[in-house]
Amino acid sequence: MPRKIAAGNWKMNGMQSTLSELRTLEDKHGDADIAILICPPFTLICACEDTPFDIGGQDCHTAKTGAHTGDISAEMLADAGASYVLLGHSERRTDHGETDALVAAKAQAAYDAGLIAVICLGETLDERENGTTLEVIDRQLAHSVPATADALNTVIAYEPVWAIGTGKVPTTDQIAEVHAHLRERLQDRFSDGAEVSLLYGGSVKGSNAAEIFAVPHVNGALVGGASLTAEAFSPIIAAL
Ligand code: PGA
Repeated sequence: MPRKIAAGNWKMNGMQSTLSELRTLEDKHGDADIAILICPPFTLICACEDTPFDIGGQDCHTAKTGAHTGDISAEMLADAGASYVLLGHSERRTDHGETDALVAAKAQAAYDAGLIAVICLGETLDERENGTTLEVIDRQLAHSVPATADALNTVIAYEPVWAIGTGKVPTTDQIAEVHAHLRERLQDRFSDGAEVSLLYGGSVKGSNAAEIFAVPHVNGALVGGASLTAEAFSPIIAAL
């Protein structure tokens, strides 16, 4: 069975004071038997070390060290206590022009540092309306996920761009179609493709989590806004 993962992507949010939310979460879910992954901004990774949760970065460079002002390497994330890194989030693809090839190179850097890469993909509203969703997913999957990926070093997050931060959620049939397709493609390509965790992301809340988690091949969620407080994230974790 793929690992169940409740992942929180804090994006560019979170101060030292936000860490009290993790202490509240720890009281409620410290001994949960699913993986709870928190991806805070780089500035808070070291401070998360004493929580029972898995910690992830939100991006990494392809190089190990060097003259790359403002960047962080996968080795640095591992050294700071992270075990995961988010890669290819649509905000990185849009704001920083990240291509599928760059995402794959970053994933390889993550594997080399011993990190698990959470590789994000998903269609825009135009692509959904043009009926090209599965084509886009296929292209991103083929080119953003390295040949060296397996169920231990990779998690795939399906995040329709139009559902991120908008309050709009695909129907469960739409999520089911993409997740079944992803599972089939992963099984075609990797011997352990049936074991790769597939997360859904985009406007997941306590009120819709249970129905999303009931969709076949949804093994968890990548949560943005609702991961910022224990009050909002806790019901999502409980639903998984
Ligand atoms: P959201 O973000 O839950 O705020 O829609 C999800 C994400 O961007 O990972």
